[in-house]
Amino acid sequence: MKNNLPSRKKLNKTIAIIGGGGTGCALAWDLSLRGFSVLVFEKGELTSGTTGRHHGQIHSGARYAVGDKNIARECMEESILLRKLVPEAVEFNGGIFLALTDEEADYTDTFIEACHEAGIPAQEISIEKALQFEPLINPHCKRCVTVPDGTFDAFRVPLSFAAGARMLGAAFYSFHEVVQLDTVGNKIISLIVTTPEGKQQSFAADFVINAGGAWAKQIAALAKVHVPVTPAPGTMVAVKNRFTDKVISRLAPPGDGDIIVPQRELSIIGSTQRVTDNPEGLLPLPEEISFLLKRATELIPAFSNAPIHAAWSAARPLAGEGLTGSGRSLSRDFMIVDHSDAGITNFISLIGGKATILRAMAEKAADYASEKLGEQTYCETRTIVPPSWRNYYTYKD
Ligand SMILES: Cc1cc2nc3c(=O)[nH]c(=O)nc-3n(C[C@H](O)[C@H](O)[C@H](O)COP(=O)(O)OP(=O)(O)OC[C@H]3O[C@@H](n4cnc5c(N)ncnc54)[C@H](O)[C@@H]3O)c2cc1C
Repeated sequence: MKNNLPSRKKLNKTIAIIGGGGTGCALAWDLSLRGFSVLVFEKGELTSGTTGRHHGQIHSGARYAVGDKNIARECMEESILLRKLVPEAVEFNGGIFLALTDEEADYTDTFIEACHEAGIPAQEISIEKALQFEPLINPHCKRCVTVPDGTFDAFRVPLSFAAGARMLGAAFYSFHEVVQLDTVGNKIISLIVTTPEGKQQSFAADFVINAGGAWAKQIAALAKVHVPVTPAPGTMVAVKNRFTDKVISRLAPPGDGDIIVPQRELSIIGSTQRVTDNPEGLLPLPEEISFLLKRATELIPAFSNAPIHAAWSAARPLAGEGLTGSGRSLSRDFMIVDHSDAGITNFISLIGGKATILRAMAEKAADYASEKLGEQTYCETRTIVPPSWRNYYTYKD
């Protein structure tokens, strides 16, 4: 691992990124290291979309190992890398899956085998051992499996990447909403942005990447193209008290209310899933809150007496369409949509994925953009340690 930022060759090409969530920040870091001039537009504060509202679980991929193998493998690889690249934003705490019913106990062998196939070192431990690690888990659980899950800071990981990009010259425009994409022929030539003062400003770019998460469809529509993204809101409830150090999950196929993540002095139970057309201003539903608290109590009985700290919702930017209600038919993997097929040759959308794999998503999209721009570049984000998240705020252009 290197932690210096050597001066780099500048390419004479500007890439505009729409969306300052984890995906946009990781993209800005990767593209800046490759030598591109980078502009990032975010309609709110950085990470104010889904990125600033998730549980902060660093996924080992175990949750997805049985049904969604690709994302499981990516999570495992990226969770190892994130621990090396942004150690100050990651807890080295681990996770335990608990089987609470006979059906879940029967599922355990399938789960462990699938984890091993995805490269995830899942290991069954005795209930006594699990209780030694975490005395407050349900003592009536039937089987327990440890996995390398963990906790990370939802804000600081992207901010580290943004700090690195900024130090290499990337310009971040918070509170700048992209409201128009001007095209000439088959290319976007400029982005029209509303500034915090309510004025319209135009920015030129050679290439545009839509990293708008659950808003990606609305952003793509500005260039009259389509992105198959499904905004799928989920609710989380945080209670006061950190009941466990490890992430505690239900040993069952992914469903609602099956993960408890310790975050600082809080414990967060998540989540639920519904579908919406509009990811703006989401609020938790009362029935989601009571459902989640009931489910949390099954994993950690002490949850029932804990004072609620907060409840909130955020929308997953699921890649694909056709999902109804709480169904889990859409993969959690990511997708690059090239809008050349719809007639715009310098525009791609990067959708789906997980916060855990933001670096990998950026690598693939930056490879793709470089090739489309005819530039021979390579990814360095696996080995170069970005600066501290604190540098994002202290760095002056
Ligand atoms: C309930 C829930 C729990 C989750 N838990 C986890 C977890 O524990 N671990 C994990 O790894 N992943 C988790 N995820 C997934 C993860 O949160 C997302 O995959 C990730 O945050 C998406 O990041 P993003 O940058 O693509 O989107 P966002 O963070 O939403 O960024 C998109 C940005 O685009 C901006 N934008 C939109 N329109 C415009 C415009 N016109 N102009 C300028 N800016 C615009 C938005 O304001 C937003 O900030 C969870 C998701 C949900 C919903």
